[in-house]
Amino acid sequence: MTHTEDPPRQPSLPIVENLSRRAAVKGGFATLGAAAFVAAISPLRHAAKNSSAAEFMQQHYKELSPEGKAAVIARLESEAKENYGAEVTIADDRPIPGTKFVYAINLSVCNGNGKCVEACHKENNHDRSTNQSYIRVIEMPKGTMDMEQGTTTYTGAVPKDDKFYLPVQCQQCDEPPCVDVCPVKATWKEEDGIVVVDYNWCIGCRYCEAACPYHARRFNWKQPEVPAEQVNPDQSYLSNRIRPAGVVEKCTYCLHRTRRGKLPACLEACPTGARVFGNILDPQSSIRWILENKRVYILKEELGTKPAFFYYFD
Ligand code: SF4
Ligand code: SF4
Repeated sequence: MTHTEDPPRQPSLPIVENLSRRAAVKGGFATLGAAAFVAAISPLRHAAKNSSAAEFMQQHYKELSPEGKAAVIARLESEAKENYGAEVTIADDRPIPGTKFVYAINLSVCNGNGKCVEACHKENNHDRSTNQSYIRVIEMPKGTMDMEQGTTTYTGAVPKDDKFYLPVQCQQCDEPPCVDVCPVKATWKEEDGIVVVDYNWCIGCRYCEAACPYHARRFNWKQPEVPAEQVNPDQSYLSNRIRPAGVVEKCTYCLHRTRRGKLPACLEACPTGARVFGNILDPQSSIRWILENKRVYILKEELGTKPAFFYYFD
């Protein structure tokens, strides 16, 4: 599904000391019970204290003019310097016309080494203290594709004879339930198939996290910790810039790389060649060949989410 609706207008809200826009939209949660709403916004108290006036007034990404985007990006680069001591460049990478990105993994080749998980952690400026990543590698009993039967906390040498390894990250669904449930339209699917989040519009209600059947979304419970020398300075507004506390984040197929003609960091880090990525609309692409010539699987097909992420065995 492509998100085509207009973004919401800046809500008309009372400005209250120490109350961020995220918390202030609570008037829009009339259908939520009071207890549910308090639970939903309770992680935001810390974030609210740190919100600047400029952030409070910022419009939705889709409403920003080129000048408005430039001003927001300049502010975010300045905040990265102030908060992390890092000189970063935040681009506004847009979809390339005629591109639909698709990923596939050869499960006969993946051996569960987890290099993709580590690469995602570094590339996307994840919080170091929680060792976050957008990728989970699930050790699965052979003979099933039911990811609920596997474990992500496996130990010991890999691969084990009676197991196979299932890396799972955002499936960039064509019918994404995470998008449908967002009460403020802070998340949407772009023209090249990538599902994104405007971290400065997200109110941190976590509805999308609950709606995702692949456990692909992550909530920032606190201000992420990344030492200055470890910050990846090559960033994009909708992908790997350091996300604030109190918002949800997810894999973006490394759009700050892939929209510039590079491959996702997880693919480059994979030592076994299990990962294939590309533009399905390009008849010469490797990913197109995989989908035309291999018997491919999708996860939880019965849910109708239509993933743009495929698995196959040789
Ligand atoms: S995998 Fe989850 S987060 Fe990603 S698009 Fe699908 S429902 Fe949304
Ligand atoms: S947490 Fe998810 S559902 Fe809630 S506002 Fe943010 S993107 Fe939307």
